Amino acid sequence: MTMTRSESGAAMTAGRGPVITRFAPSPTGYLHLGHAHAALFAWRAARHAGGRFVLRIEDIDGPRCRPEFAAAIIEDLEWLGLDWDGPVLHQSERLGHYAGALERLHEMGLLYPCFCTRRDIQAEIARAVAAPHGPDGPLYPGTCRVLDTAARHARIAAGAAHALRLDVAAALARTGPLVWHDRAAGEIAADPGALGDVVLARKDIATSYHLAVTLDDADQGVTLVTRGRDLFHTTHVHRLLQALLDLPVPTWHHHDLLTDDAGRRLAKRHDALAIRTLRAAGRSPAEVRALAGFAD
Ligand code: GLU
Repeated sequence: MTMTRSESGAAMTAGRGPVITRFAPSPTGYLHLGHAHAALFAWRAARHAGGRFVLRIEDIDGPRCRPEFAAAIIEDLEWLGLDWDGPVLHQSERLGHYAGALERLHEMGLLYPCFCTRRDIQAEIARAVAAPHGPDGPLYPGTCRVLDTAARHARIAAGAAHALRLDVAAALARTGPLVWHDRAAGEIAADPGALGDVVLARKDIATSYHLAVTLDDADQGVTLVTRGRDLFHTTHVHRLLQALLDLPVPTWHHHDLLTDDAGRRLAKRHDALAIRTLRAAGRSPAEVRALAGFAD
């Protein structure tokens, strides 16, 4: 399949080539019904279209990610009756790849080192008269964006730990306005500024969710990114990264999250709703698929 860069970000892949979807869990716990819902949503979207479904383990989150959880997730998915195409990708094995993209963004002059600790950022926000807020709370106030080159070099030479942030205003000045297409919400004007200058390389590991997910979706050939609505706002940043790095533009489908009877979102800590627990209680795969919102 050949894909060209789309300036408009419209659904360029729709109707062209196979649909490729993915499930991309973080192995920080056992698979629960909310994950099963997301996995089945992606798997069915691919299988119903005669397309491909790929699996990726997002294991860049330091000690929170454990190999035994990754193995358990894979085993639970198989038990549920899901199958996937090609090898399972592990983000922890792709740091060299992420480094290449960081280098390109650095050469474009779009990254800056950020030495701030969480506490520094909170203090700066508390000092600000009106701190701008995004979907996840107050935005990074830009403290390190305005450091001059000499100050940056001095701190790096002194061994100060630093993250790398994307200068979103400079990036947008380069790309111009961008749009993306969501199967549920339609055509969306990208608004990456709503998340502030996001971190692309963390202090503890030289990548971040935004960078890794964007590069991996492109490398796995994903044409339809399905995930919960809670991640809707992250797509603005991913669309910007695609434009900067000349990556193909998929279509997105942000779906509703599974909730319990009281309307609360299911989280990993709801142990009773872990697939393992349901299995141990004697539920069949079909019953668990139905609990996850997909009756056969
Ligand atoms: N790894 C993320 C999670 O488990 C999902 C990433 C995505 O679908 O973009 O929440």
